[in-house]
Amino acid sequence: MKRTLAQIADMCGGTLSDAAVYSEIIAEGVFTDSRKPVADSLFIPLVGERFDGHEFVQACLEQGAAGAMWQKNHGVPPQGAVILVDDTLAALQTLASAYLHENKAAVVGITGSNGKTTTKDIVNALLSSTFKVHKTQGNFNNHIGLPLTVLSMTPDTEIIILEMGMSGRGEIYDLSVIAQPDVAIITNIGESHLLQLGSRLEIARAKAEIAAGMKPGGLLIYNGDEPLIAQVLEESATKQPEGMQRFRFGLQTDNDDYPTGLMNAQHGMVFTTKQSGDKAYTLPLLGTHNVINCLAAMTVARHFGVTEENMATGLSQLKLTGMRIEVTQAVSGLTLLNDAYNASPTSMKAAIDVLEGLKGYRMKVAVLGDMLELGSEEQQLHHEIGTYITPDKLDKVLVYGPLSVHIAEGAKKHMAAEAVHAFDNKEELTRYLLENLHPKDAVLFKASRGMKLEDVAQALQTAP
Ligand code: ATP
Ligand code: MG
Repeated sequence: MKRTLAQIADMCGGTLSDAAVYSEIIAEGVFTDSRKPVADSLFIPLVGERFDGHEFVQACLEQGAAGAMWQKNHGVPPQGAVILVDDTLAALQTLASAYLHENKAAVVGITGSNGKTTTKDIVNALLSSTFKVHKTQGNFNNHIGLPLTVLSMTPDTEIIILEMGMSGRGEIYDLSVIAQPDVAIITNIGESHLLQLGSRLEIARAKAEIAAGMKPGGLLIYNGDEPLIAQVLEESATKQPEGMQRFRFGLQTDNDDYPTGLMNAQHGMVFTTKQSGDKAYTLPLLGTHNVINCLAAMTVARHFGVTEENMATGLSQLKLTGMRIEVTQAVSGLTLLNDAYNASPTSMKAAIDVLEGLKGYRMKVAVLGDMLELGSEEQQLHHEIGTYITPDKLDKVLVYGPLSVHIAEGAKKHMAAEAVHAFDNKEELTRYLLENLHPKDAVLFKASRGMKLEDVAQALQTAP
């Protein structure tokens, strides 16, 4: 974004101090992290639990910022190019929304419990063959990350892809109203944030809020295998844009698109779909769940008129944001599937399915850690993961963490007791793996971020 301070004040509903002096100064973007001041850019001081950005306004101005915002109830602003606003966070969001309006870029919004970042990366790969695309970097998907993503878009952007995350009701609504998507995806409904929301139905309601801000006639693409989404779309019918189009994807054959053929290939999947007829696609990612993510992404690409040919090229150039089922070879030759970025029951089952689908290994081992923030049913949900594992899927289950003990208990339903081991420290777990694994084995790592299971994966990676 490149605008004068007068224009920015106008866009966010603020008042520029000393307008006669500062109104024509140009800001080439905005920043919120005072530790990394950006010259000629506008500093927006946010108020957090531990830090108040206002303390750094003076310093940012001295270090070359084009100007700064200032929240009115924070006392007297420093001398200089300051835009007075009621609330800096709200002003950041209003500015982003105004900037989107002034540009012609079409907006794709993506929410869901699992697969948002992956789907975003696939949509990006498919659209980039044909359009100038801007997308959420990393996981910048919340009420601050989303507006910052919007404001970092260059004016020649044709399509912007925005990931929308949440931890409670009303958050996706706010993001959708800021972004006003032309196309929105709900990837699935899982169990993440069950603690905060209480039930899967409430999670579905929270995700369906993405329809609320969509443009009239917008296209909502959602997982048709999940009855809760259809249910909540019925009940929230009044909060949907006029003429909203719907498209359902999933595994089930009553969806608008579903895989008609599916095959595991070396480090990826080959599939055909109802919509693309006989044409086979290669997705350089493992797992049926990723093919499903891909169907949602292909629907977006078709909506914008990308040809099947260009989609296939786009898929072959897919680049993923790190640590989502990264398949690597350890020094010893051992195959590692590192999916320790996060975990919920849905995504853990998906990861187990990926390991099950691999062919040609001596032994398949799952190292599973605690799934956090699941609320009062956490023990039961861990236990169920255990019972999901059968000897025809995996050879060994190793668990780490206090909740994962329940995975181990559940696993003993189908697995022999000697194929299931529980660990309460990473050193012992690592030692066990080093002593028992063979170069021809494949081992999966999956746990919530907080468990830092990648430490163990890294230790194996470098071991001779
Ligand atoms: P976050 O909420 O952390 O932003 P996200 O929704 O962006 O997560 P990804 O980062 O794409 O999700 O994927 C996280 C994990 O979820 C992956 O490692 C994978 O195991 C699992 N996953 C991805 N897509 C699906 C899906 N459609 N169904 C079930 N699990 C999935
Ligand atoms: Mg994400």
